[in-house]
Parts: sequence; C-alpha cells; structure tokens
Amino acid sequence: MPTAIEIFKHLPKKNCGKCNFPTCLAFAMQLASSKAKLADCPYVTEEAKAKLEASSAPPIRLITIGAGETKVEIGDETELYRHDKKFFHATRYAMTISDQASEKEVAAKLRRASDLRFERVGQVIALDMLAVRNDSRDPTRFAEMVKRVSRESALPLILMSQDPAAVRAAASAANLSRPLIYAATLDNLEGMAAAAKELKYPLAVRHSDLNELADLVEKVKAAGVEDIVLDLGVEDLQQTLERNTIVRKNAVRKTFRGLGYPILTNVIGKERGMAMALMSTMKYGGIVLMEDLDPAHAVPLFVLRQNIYTDPQVPIQVKAGLYPINNPDKDSPILFTVNFSLTYFTVAGDIEKSRMPAWLLVVDTEGLSVLTAFSAGKLTSESVAEALRSTEAMVKSEKGLLIIPGMLSRMSGKLQEATGLKVVVGPKESSGIPKLLKSL
Ligand code: SF4
Repeated sequence: MPTAIEIFKHLPKKNCGKCNFPTCLAFAMQLASSKAKLADCPYVTEEAKAKLEASSAPPIRLITIGAGETKVEIGDETELYRHDKKFFHATRYAMTISDQASEKEVAAKLRRASDLRFERVGQVIALDMLAVRNDSRDPTRFAEMVKRVSRESALPLILMSQDPAAVRAAASAANLSRPLIYAATLDNLEGMAAAAKELKYPLAVRHSDLNELADLVEKVKAAGVEDIVLDLGVEDLQQTLERNTIVRKNAVRKTFRGLGYPILTNVIGKERGMAMALMSTMKYGGIVLMEDLDPAHAVPLFVLRQNIYTDPQVPIQVKAGLYPINNPDKDSPILFTVNFSLTYFTVAGDIEKSRMPAWLLVVDTEGLSVLTAFSAGKLTSESVAEALRSTEAMVKSEKGLLIIPGMLSRMSGKLQEATGLKVVVGPKESSGIPKLLKSL
C-alpha cells in the first residue's frame, strides 16, 4: 500500500471536499489506511486511478471460486506472520472424484463430502470444494461427470484436466459457476489460458521451479487471464514448507507480483499426504487437494485451520445472556460463565451431559476467559449481578442458588451480598459440573 504522500501526488488537489474530507491530503491519509475508496473522488484521472490501483492492489490477489453462499475466496493476504495482524482467507479443502468412478463410488463420495460438516465453538467447519478428475482422458466422459457432480452438490468445483477440450466440454455440458481449472503447465499453457480467458474461469498454473512458474504466470497474464492460482509442484513435507514460505515472503515482503497468488497444494498420491495438508494449512496454503478425507482426519485438519484463521486480536465470542439447558424451570439453579466461546461450549456441554436442568448465565467479558477477565477487572461481582438483573435470571429461577466457577471462589462473599443468592463454589474444571448438579 503506498503512503499518504505518494497517494497525494496523484490526487487533483482541488480541496473541494466532495470526497467527504476537507482536503485532498486528508483524503490521501484515509486512503492510505484503507478507510476510504478512491472512487469517492470524482476528479481523479484515469491515469492516476490506474497507477494507484496497481500500487495499492493486495500483494496476493483475491481469487473467488464458485458463486453464492458456497463460494470460496482465497488469497488477499498481507502478512507473513499471523500475530502481525491476522490471516484473512482460510485454507480450503477439496476432495476428488474420478470420472472413471462407478455409480456407487460417486454416490458414496458425494455423501461423504456432505457429511464432512462439524460444529465447533459455534462455527460450522466443513469440506469446501469438490474436484472432478479427468482420468479417462475422454472429454465427453469428463463433462458427464462434472455435470453430475455439479447437479448433486452445491460445492464449488475444480476441473482437473490437462486437456483444454475437456474443460470446454464440461463448461458447455453444465451450468458451472466459476470453477477452478487445474492446471496449466508448460505443455498446455496456450490452450488452457485461452479456455480460461474465454470461460472467465480462474486458472491454476503448475511448475516445480519457482522462476519458471513466475514466467508461466507472466505468459498466462499476457494471454488475458488475471485470476491465477499457483501449484508449486511440491512432492514432500519439506518442499511444502520451503516453497510455500518462499512464495509468501516474495509476495508480501517484496511485493513480487509474479508470485502474488494463492497456493494450491496437491497431496494426491503423496506419501505423508495428510502431513502435507497440515503443513499447507499452517504455511500459507490457499487450497489443499486430496483424494479422499475421512472424519478422523478431517476433524483435526479443520480444527487446526480454525485456530490459525481466527483473528488473534478478537477472541471468538458467544452472545451474553441466559441460556436454558436441559429444559430448566423455576426450581433449577443458575450457573455463570464468560462469553469466551471455548469456555462457554465446554461448560454448556458439561451441563448438557449431566442431563440436569439448569440456567447458564453468560456474562460479557469481551471474549476473555474466566481468570483473565477476573484479573483484568472485566468480571466482577457487580458485572455478574448486573447480568443477573438484565436477563431477569432470578425471575426465571426461584431456587435462589448461584453456582460460580471454582477459580472465582474469592468472589463468593461479595456476590452473595450483591445478589442475595446462596453462592455455591463450583469445580475448578467444568468436567466436575455433572457431579455437582446431581448432588444438589
Ligand atoms: Fe481532493 Fe478529490 Fe477530495 Fe476534492 S474530492 S478534496 S479533489 S480528493
């Protein structure tokens, strides 16, 4: 991103205020911090626009595959390390279906793909894409399989073929929404680039030598294709780590546009493919292409991704409020916890497991965990009493009993005074909650 002064040089300097800022310099400063859009100035020339847009383009291009609710976006990253800001677009996972697969195999894979869907800390984590592989080398057969998969699944597609004719056949057989073509290589570059340009589909470009890859990218761009994904031709874990890091470093630190695109890692048929998938998730992968994925491998992979792509400055939170668990009534006790998602779902899960009815009061601690919030003064007897009042918890529960987290035992006296409730100090670990609830 250019500095405010660099941007200012290209502005009309009329100081007319039509951009909603009093001067061109003020507008330049807002542009530099991405708080305004260049289009807000009606007088900026086409030449200045082209220059500013080129220099302010993200170091890694944003690529969209598919459309509507299931579309996936990859790229548009600005950081080498997550803690410097955050990573924006999570790694996407794709499972392949061969165009030589039997009826039964295709049905089983489609079922498996739609079943790979889990909920964790209130977020749904799932498989993102399907790839149809042109093993038959027959364009008609490939097109038929693409048609079937696109009819039976809403997931965005990857068209895996070396043959531009097969890609064109698939595009005319089915109404596809921006599938990714995989892949252009030295041997088919011209035909693939022509097909991608004509169909307006993104195109993956593959080469294991990064200099050669950058050359191929230039050729594809010269042919009129802007939406590009890079396959670095990695064969093992070490190459995944090394090449992915080199590409990311060159893109975000040196703004080297030749490699400023998201990375696709193909782990099909590779020894330690799952380890490569994990590595690619940790190290800058945009898409990981796998032959298959079972739940035992999917869950840790999806959870790893969720952890890496969570904004480190914004803890995952649930809405503060009073949550009924196991159909509580006026005789059920109230427990309280914080609105840090991981804590909430752990406590709520343990109450559910007990099968004992209870009210769970979630206090807003800005997503901090129990002890952190307590130490930071964001979880006090007053804030708990206020949460009890605002949620009318004591109207819904007349038992007069409040169970507090075991780590907050020192809060019990004050809380009893502030609320008039009998305070019971709960277990330090929420796994002890079922036993406590059953003993009341
Ligand atoms: Fe300057 Fe354009 Fe804003 Fe007018 S609208 S103040 S010319 S940047």
